Amino acid sequence: MKFKLIYPKWAKLDRQTEFHLPPHGPVVFAAALPAYVDVDFIDENLEAIDFDEAVDFVGISMMLTVQVKRGWEIADIYRKKGIKVMFGGIATMLHAEETMEHADAVFLGEAEGRMEQVFADFRNNKLQPCYDFIKDRPDIGLVGPARRDLLNRKLYNYKGVQMVDLVHASRGCRFNCYPCAVSYLGGRVFRPRPIDKAVAEMAGIDNNRLFIVDNSLAQNTQWEMDLFREMIPLKKKWCSHPIEDKPEVLDLAAQAGAWYVYQAVFDTSDYIKERIKRYHDHGIGVEGTILLGLDNHDEDFIKRLIDFLLEIELDLAEFTVLTPFPHTKAWEELNRQNRILSRDWNDYSADKVVFQPKQMSPDRLQGLLDYAWNTFYQDESQNFKMVKLFQQVVKKEMADDTFKPRDRSLAGQSFGRDTSR
Ligand code: SF4
Repeated sequence: MKFKLIYPKWAKLDRQTEFHLPPHGPVVFAAALPAYVDVDFIDENLEAIDFDEAVDFVGISMMLTVQVKRGWEIADIYRKKGIKVMFGGIATMLHAEETMEHADAVFLGEAEGRMEQVFADFRNNKLQPCYDFIKDRPDIGLVGPARRDLLNRKLYNYKGVQMVDLVHASRGCRFNCYPCAVSYLGGRVFRPRPIDKAVAEMAGIDNNRLFIVDNSLAQNTQWEMDLFREMIPLKKKWCSHPIEDKPEVLDLAAQAGAWYVYQAVFDTSDYIKERIKRYHDHGIGVEGTILLGLDNHDEDFIKRLIDFLLEIELDLAEFTVLTPFPHTKAWEELNRQNRILSRDWNDYSADKVVFQPKQMSPDRLQGLLDYAWNTFYQDESQNFKMVKLFQQVVKKEMADDTFKPRDRSLAGQSFGRDTSR
C-alpha cells in the first residue's frame, strides 16, 4: 500500500535565517507504521507535492499552527480526487475539530502501537473520523528509531554545512508554563525513554551533530546524568533545550558533547546572568529564547531586557511575541478577557501580535519586536553569530577527531567583522 506522508509548508519568521531542519514528528510517526505500508515522505518546505502521483492513502503531519491552513488545502485537493486523508501531529491535536472538517480521519496522540488498527480500518473501509489517544499514551519503551531513511538528506544543509539531526530521549514535561501547550500534548508526567534505546538511536545516526528535541532535559537529575554518561563514548555534538543548572550535570553534559542550549531569558536577574555564565564556563553556548508581550512587560522592561541580553553575551537570541496557541493557559486567559484580535492561524507565527497587550498597543509591541532584533544584532548580524557558534562545534570536533571533511569550508573560513547586513 502506497502511503504518502506530507509535511505542509509555512512561511518562515521574517527575521529568522532561512534554513531547514529535518522534521522529527513525521519520521517518528513513520516508525510506528505496519511493515506492509510503503511510505513516501515529502517536506513541502523543500519540494513540491505531485498531486497526480498515484497513492492509496495520504497522511498529513502538522507540527505548527501556521501549517494547519495549508494542511487543510492539501487535504481538500486529495479528497476531491477520492483519496482518503488522515491528519496527525501536534498541530492536529491543537486544532482537532477544525481539522476534522478536512479529513477522513484525525489521529490525536502518540502513534506507537496504534497504527496497525488504523491501517486495518483503512483497508477494511472502516476508517474512523477521530482516533483520540491524547490521554491514553503508549508505553514509552515502544518508541523505535525514527525513519530518517525517508528524508531527502541533501536538502537539509545551510551554506553547504549539514544541519543537525533531531532525536528525542523523553516525552512529557513536569511543568505547565503559561504560553506552552506541552502539558496538554504530552502530559505533565516526565516519560524518559529507556536510555539504552535512546543512545542506540543516537549512535545509529549518520551525523555527528544532533538536536535533542526533548521539551526540557532538566526534569530528573539522575536520569539526565545517566543519559549524558552513556552519551560520552558517542562523541556526538548536540544542542538541546535547557540542561539542569547543577555543576555535576553541566560537567557531564559538556563531556557528552553539549554544544549549545536554547534557554528562555525572561528577566534581568542575577540568577539568569549566573545561569548563562555557568553554561559558558562549561563551554556550552546559549541561544536565548525571548518572549515579548507578557502582561508585566512595558516598553522600559523590554528595552532593559535587550540591553541585558547584550551584557550577558548570549551567543544568539530569537525574539518572538506571546502567541496564544489553543490549549495553553495564555489562550484560556486572553480569550476569557476578550483580548484575542486574530483567529487566522496563519497569523500565529509568533512574530505577529494577535492579542491586545496589557501595557501598550499591538502596534507598539510589534515595533518593539523589531527593536529587539535590530538592537541585539546591530554589531554582529545573526548570520555572523551563527557562524561563530558553528565554529565552536568545529573546534570541539577537531579536538576529538570527529570533524568531517565535508564541513572544511566552514572551518577554514576567516570571519572578520561582518558587513553583510
Ligand atoms: S515551556 Fe518548556 S518547561 Fe515549560 S511546560 Fe513547556 S516544555 Fe515544559
